[in-house]
Amino acid sequence: MNDAASKKQPGLLMVVSAPSGAGKTSICREILRLFPNVRFSVSCTTRPPRPGEVNGKDYDFISAGEFRERIARGEFVEWVENYGQLYGTPKETMNAFLKQGYDLILDIEPRGAKALREHDLRGISIFILPPSFSHLKSRMSLRGESAAVMERRLKSSLDEIREALWYDYIIFNEKLEEAVDRFRAIYIAEKSRRDLLTERIEAFFNAALS
Ligand code: 5GP
Repeated sequence: MNDAASKKQPGLLMVVSAPSGAGKTSICREILRLFPNVRFSVSCTTRPPRPGEVNGKDYDFISAGEFRERIARGEFVEWVENYGQLYGTPKETMNAFLKQGYDLILDIEPRGAKALREHDLRGISIFILPPSFSHLKSRMSLRGESAAVMERRLKSSLDEIREALWYDYIIFNEKLEEAVDRFRAIYIAEKSRRDLLTERIEAFFNAALS
């Protein structure tokens, strides 16, 4: 998609959730690579970085103290506590991107996604699922988690998957390329909505009349 042309439209929020092991990170990474107009909303978290994670790119890794101060200053559009760690979407970066016409991927869990619906934001929600429960289980065991951790994660994954029922779109990630294709199709269709394009249509007619 033409970067400059699409920037004239207001930015679109794409909230993406998935149980762990569904392949969400790989799909989002590919979408970000394919569409320069799509940016990633970097959340703040108090959890320590995992190997390979980059501060400011994957997350802003901050202390619990700083996180609490930022909550008190109303700096998060939504925030949650997850596995004893805090995660939140900073309001300022999100609004700055949207104002500039960028579209944003928010990789957040369902409670955050629900909280965002309370705000009057233009957006869609996408839930990514593994093709079956056995896939979820085997992908988790590939991560080398201990049995106790795996059991806890599987239970919370199932609770999370129930939430998929109120998302706008669901993508079963059987094959990465197909899942990316579906995400692309959703994105392109959403960017083609008439209500998003009224300004551009007006500009078209203004040019014709001048
Ligand atoms: P992880 O620690 O594995 O990176 O993320 C754990 C969960 O927190 C994932 O489901 C992820 O989508 C979610 N998450 C990450 N950032 C945010 C955020 O800013 N807000 C909310 N509500 N969830 C988040």
